Amino acid sequence: VSSSSTTTTATGSVLITGIGSLVTNDPEAGSGGPLGLVADAAVVVEDGRIAWVGPAASAPTATDQAFDAAGRAVVPGFVDSHSHLVFAGDRTAEFNARMSGRAYTAGGIRTTVAATRAATDEALDANVARYVREALRQGTTVLECKSGYGLTVEDEARALRIAGRHTDEVTYLGAHVVAPEYADDPAAYVDLVTGPMLDACAPHARWVDVFCERGAFDGDQARAVLTAGAERGLTPRIHANQLTEGPGVQLAVELGAASADHCTHLSDADVSALASAPGTTVATLLPGAEFSTRAVYPDARRLLDAGATVALSTDCNPGSSFTTSVPFCIAVAVREMGMTPDEALWSATAGGAAALRRTDVGRVVVGARADLVLLDAPSHVHLAYRPGVPLVAAVWSGGVRAV
Ligand SMILES: [Zn+2]
Repeated sequence: VSSSSTTTTATGSVLITGIGSLVTNDPEAGSGGPLGLVADAAVVVEDGRIAWVGPAASAPTATDQAFDAAGRAVVPGFVDSHSHLVFAGDRTAEFNARMSGRAYTAGGIRTTVAATRAATDEALDANVARYVREALRQGTTVLECKSGYGLTVEDEARALRIAGRHTDEVTYLGAHVVAPEYADDPAAYVDLVTGPMLDACAPHARWVDVFCERGAFDGDQARAVLTAGAERGLTPRIHANQLTEGPGVQLAVELGAASADHCTHLSDADVSALASAPGTTVATLLPGAEFSTRAVYPDARRLLDAGATVALSTDCNPGSSFTTSVPFCIAVAVREMGMTPDEALWSATAGGAAALRRTDVGRVVVGARADLVLLDAPSHVHLAYRPGVPLVAAVWSGGVRAV
């Protein structure tokens, strides 16, 4: 994970050889279509970057160190483009109640807001570090992180400062739900989010996000939030069409948002809009949310067949998707959402990179960040074929052996 506190720049060079199956996500580099598979491959890592990729038989040997993958598979580090890690407290009881038959509503977020406001900076920082580390152990090397559990000027800015100690991909989500203090005057809360709160938060974020949903913010409010953020240099992304059909997806495409996230309830016009913007507005699917709320999964097949760019992410948060595991999301996407194992792997790596508008991650190509995951398996297909099994054997993050 690109973190000032946990990542150092690797010096010297490492030859990783004996890779039975390498996913490059570079169609030019190998077979297997978009995955660019190379069999019996090697990779040279130098100064934190990929310096060479190709068949092991022709790999340069003059490196400082060597690592033998012993026939196992290597894939790009996972790019988790959607998480909410700055929080305190616990919602075990809510999950337990929901699994006992109660429906999920957006209001549960307020429980976490109260706990987060009451927490110290140190406690919040330690929580983020814990979950970033947990994700890294499961192969995630880039992780976006949102605010959204503070909902005051000071608490939102604090959340973004803390997130920024652990990742460069920081998202201002003051418009997660209407703050409890503004329950009777949502318009005044939107004024706060687009005014003083934005002033305090914009310097600490790259992205602006809004939860466009019944019970949260409607289309006009979402437009106001994203437009105000864009005017301050933040690029829009949006929680769209999670619980119901609504204006979120089309708003995302209209505003050139990097990503429309969830995309669970889509009209034909929504699908067409996403298909008209491949590589601009990515459809980010978050199956952990449907899994954890016993809801109907998004139809990835429909989006892929239409030509949309699809990313897969965890949506890690304490209420509706408390998982940091991208491999879990891959397995669910293949089993429940009509994705092939190849498509799911691509969406969790190159797709996530596209959703964050990054070209330096999500691919194993010369010049890219050396973010690599060694699987205890002969093929990336095992990520779906062996669900729930801890297959991550090693992780290099920016060329540094991190797991
Ligand atoms: Zn979310």
